[in-house]
Amino acid sequence: MSLKGKTAVITGSNSGIGLGVAIELAKAGADVVLNSFTDRDEDHALAAQISADHGVTARYIQADMSKGNECRALIEQAGRCDILVNNAGIQHVAPIDEFPIDKWDAIIAINMSSAFHTTAAALPMMRQAGWGRVVNIASAHGLTASPFKSAYIAAKHGVVGLTKTTALETAEEQITANAICPGYVLTPLVEAQIPATMKEYGKGRDEVVRDVLLARQPSKEFATVEQLGGTTVFLCSDAAAQITGTTISVDGGWTAL
Ligand code: NAD
Repeated sequence: MSLKGKTAVITGSNSGIGLGVAIELAKAGADVVLNSFTDRDEDHALAAQISADHGVTARYIQADMSKGNECRALIEQAGRCDILVNNAGIQHVAPIDEFPIDKWDAIIAINMSSAFHTTAAALPMMRQAGWGRVVNIASAHGLTASPFKSAYIAAKHGVVGLTKTTALETAEEQITANAICPGYVLTPLVEAQIPATMKEYGKGRDEVVRDVLLARQPSKEFATVEQLGGTTVFLCSDAAAQITGTTISVDGGWTAL
């Protein structure tokens, strides 16, 4: 599978799943644009490393995915976007009646609305190129719910809905739109939840991982960023040309329960 000549823009890709997806796309030959809201030397160094490791063009573009105009500017600055991976995301956990309004607004903006803005900016470029792939990193929480994650779950269900509409609006073109729904993946976002969960349950790390975090993941294993990158590369392949408007779960059986 060669993605040589394609440019992939991956939002929120200076760590975790986004970075893993960027690396797998680069391994498959795509030029990549990394993104986050920071503008540190190490962000640009990540892009330089991917370029050196995989012989592709890799750039880092700062843009804050909580702001619609910056989402659109990211795509314009990339100049080309054959593959769009909407991955930027944050989490906050609280009961609905205590959920801070600013956290609700930020999660809806970063986890959901950013995908609308980047897709709106990227579709004309894909149409111009006559080919395109939109891959939205949703979540098992785009298909199921858990208590205390109202904003995240609303946003991820929204992303799944946006994915379906994107697919229908592009159905007769060589463009597909799909959502990947990961279960738990051990990334900084999940790592950050472990100490508080240990405290809450009065359990050690291993017990918390198996009995709390992976309670709903029958495989009792985290999904890996490499697996999510591989799934993204598959969705960009010719074999996936008729896969559009759907979700692919990478969740160790979570949604089979
Ligand atoms: P992470 O914290 O490692 O990565 C999140 C990325 O988003 C980072 O690169 C961060 O810099 C970026 N980001 C945050 N706010 C941003 C903003 N305002 N503008 C631009 N970028 C911003 O987390 P992750 O686990 O790799 O999560 C990536 C995506 O995968 C998220 O959408 C998350 O909801 C989803 N997801 C994660 C898991 C999991 O278990 N880790 C499971 C299902 C879905």
